[in-house]
Amino acid sequence: MFVVLLGLPGAGKGTQAARLKEELGLPHVTTGDLFRENIAARTELGKKAMPYYDAGDLVPNELTIGMLLDRISQPDCANGCMFDGYPRNVEQAAALDQALTSAGKQIDRALYIEVPEDELVRRLSGRWLCPNCAAVYHEVSAPPAKAGLCDKCGSELTQRSDDKPDVVRNRLKVNIGNMQPLVDHYAGQDKLTTVDGSRDPEAVSADLRKALEG
Ligand SMILES: [Zn+2]
Repeated sequence: MFVVLLGLPGAGKGTQAARLKEELGLPHVTTGDLFRENIAARTELGKKAMPYYDAGDLVPNELTIGMLLDRISQPDCANGCMFDGYPRNVEQAAALDQALTSAGKQIDRALYIEVPEDELVRRLSGRWLCPNCAAVYHEVSAPPAKAGLCDKCGSELTQRSDDKPDVVRNRLKVNIGNMQPLVDHYAGQDKLTTVDGSRDPEAVSADLRKALEG
């Protein structure tokens, strides 16, 4: 079973992928790992991808697809795997479909972990730092005992500009713009399961498992 895991930053994809890997034994294939592995092993594809990767540019589709096909031909993927971080847009989804078809395989299921934008902003933007002792807090998951003050040294907490709600919201816009067409792509193939990702991780993973086992 080949599965695509979809979700915006902050939706909890990494957490859920780790759970599914443990519960169902599905290998977790991320493009970040593939790039690093291929570059470290100096494969042909890795050598070609390196300049793009090092510059922080988008690695061309044909290289990424080549690495994905190599990866899924390995024995641990004989019964399938979970793709995370690819496809990121509908063009990549079409390229992946085509590549899998030519390898006699297909995407069986796309799982979309849906979380409302406001909740994503809340999760992604609540980070506060202590300028004195470098302690890290989070408004939602690890708040200080007294709002705005460090538990350890009592200093006033500060927030990095990257972690401010407006900046986070802006960053999310690009991802949101790509996500809907991607979700529609798999819905059109009747392969999409949407799961409410705003609940606790146990409830989310129970639904994801059901979608794969049902
Ligand atoms: Zn402190």
